Amino acid sequence: MPPAHFKLIDPSIRAFHDATLPTREERRENLNNLAIPCANFEECGKTKPRSELKVCAKCKLARYCSQACQKSHWRAIHKAQCSPAGEGSPQALPIKLAERALAAPVILDAMFNISVLVLDLITDPTNAERAVVKVACQTLAADIQAYMRRMFAGLPKDPGAQVCLSYASFTSVPLAEVDEKTRQTAADMRVKLGAQISDEQPLVTFWFVKAPDEKEHSESDEDEKEEEGSSKDKTGETEEAAPKDEKAGTKKAIESTSLPEYSLSVTLRLPKGTIAYMATKPKEIVRSTMLADQEVEKTERNMRELLNNTIRMDTSNKLRLRAYPTVAST
Ligand SMILES: [Zn+2]
Ligand SMILES: [Zn+2]
Repeated sequence: MPPAHFKLIDPSIRAFHDATLPTREERRENLNNLAIPCANFEECGKTKPRSELKVCAKCKLARYCSQACQKSHWRAIHKAQCSPAGEGSPQALPIKLAERALAAPVILDAMFNISVLVLDLITDPTNAERAVVKVACQTLAADIQAYMRRMFAGLPKDPGAQVCLSYASFTSVPLAEVDEKTRQTAADMRVKLGAQISDEQPLVTFWFVKAPDEKEHSESDEDEKEEEGSSKDKTGETEEAAPKDEKAGTKKAIESTSLPEYSLSVTLRLPKGTIAYMATKPKEIVRSTMLADQEVEKTERNMRELLNNTIRMDTSNKLRLRAYPTVAST
């Protein structure tokens, strides 16, 4: 049984949740220190702290190490990919929010714990050198009750409704099957942090991609099963690109299917003690006013659900993981 949704009625649960939120300053500092590859990484090969990169003024998502990189990337790729400011296009929004989420220790900690399981670092910490954690991100209606009311009333989804980040899955993908940027960032960080890497604190690479849209789930699941062999450097993309091509005729997403998808790769050093902690098979306490406190195993699924609940609980948007999607104007 998956853990029940948090309820907000009990003030002690509310306080427990609020205590895990970073302050505005902490959040900003964490984000600033995050090492992120230049969007034009294929050409320049640079990874820098986020605060030292210049952001595209239009989409506020793509980040560059220099003006030269921005110009070159604009001509080659970004011009077609860039969407007007605001919160960003529905395509880019999940990635943008996933990046912001890295500023929250409560989320990052859980992601590190999940990475230990997904990459099986307890059995062999060097697994982190051969595979990355692929994080499929999506956005879901932030106000679930309003969403349900509309659904039961037979109304279509409200395209302007506030959404929040939700993690669809954390999976292990062999390094050989990730995109070049992710592979290179990982290698780059390995060189940079060489002396600090150990079996206790391996480097873990997270590769954030947009999850396939809900309707496409069943199709992409089949794809995964039958795909075998057709991997090469594609695995991550085929999963998303294939179902999209099929629906191209029915939806107006036709133009966007040919565009490169936004993705984000971040390589981080696992905090000390994370593997040892996960090796103790810790339990997660799920606090629910409906079912009282429940102990559940820390599986990828349970931890992911808890993460998503944490985001959902943040109704005042302190984590800034809620946003209004920009509806394409044309
Ligand atoms: Zn842009
Ligand atoms: Zn660059």
